[in-house]
Amino acid sequence: MEVLQLDMSGRPQDWISTREAAVLYALDAVAWTLGEAFCVLRGGLQRTTGRLSRIEVHPIVAVSGAVPSRAWRTEPALANLKLFARDRQVCAYCGRRFGLDELTREHIRPVSRGGVDSWMNCITACRPCNGRKGNRLPEEAGMVLLYLPYVPSLHEDMILRGRRILADQMDFLLASVPRGSRLLA
Ligand SMILES: [Zn+2]
Repeated sequence: MEVLQLDMSGRPQDWISTREAAVLYALDAVAWTLGEAFCVLRGGLQRTTGRLSRIEVHPIVAVSGAVPSRAWRTEPALANLKLFARDRQVCAYCGRRFGLDELTREHIRPVSRGGVDSWMNCITACRPCNGRKGNRLPEEAGMVLLYLPYVPSLHEDMILRGRRILADQMDFLLASVPRGSRLLA
């Protein structure tokens, strides 16, 4: 299982391993935690106390101190697997659901015609639909988008990465997912 790392203000930063989380605890860099500890790591003998060191790892940890610049992103990075998850693996043109290897990143306005590679210009399409649309706008191809693109929030992005997520983590993330999200549909 992985740990959801937040900054002090509660903005998601990353998924980290329990080992990486243990380092944060050891460095006294954990400002606060959420959820019940789900794992206990044992270290060596502490010189001062003669006791075995023991670190309880919580599912959500907020780190104290300076926030790395990338945490101030407002928009998650675009990646195919997250795009397909946002769109629930449903082709925006034929409305059918496909396996991951049958899906493509479709640029609504083609890149060759000035379209940008962004969450708002990209949609999930099956290979045949993508091929049929070709280098055209949907209206030129006589094709209609069955759903619209949107930019996922940082909270939603953490869910879209598709890892196993603990109940405490899912509760925290879903509480901040915008109402328009397909994850709530
Ligand atoms: Zn299709």
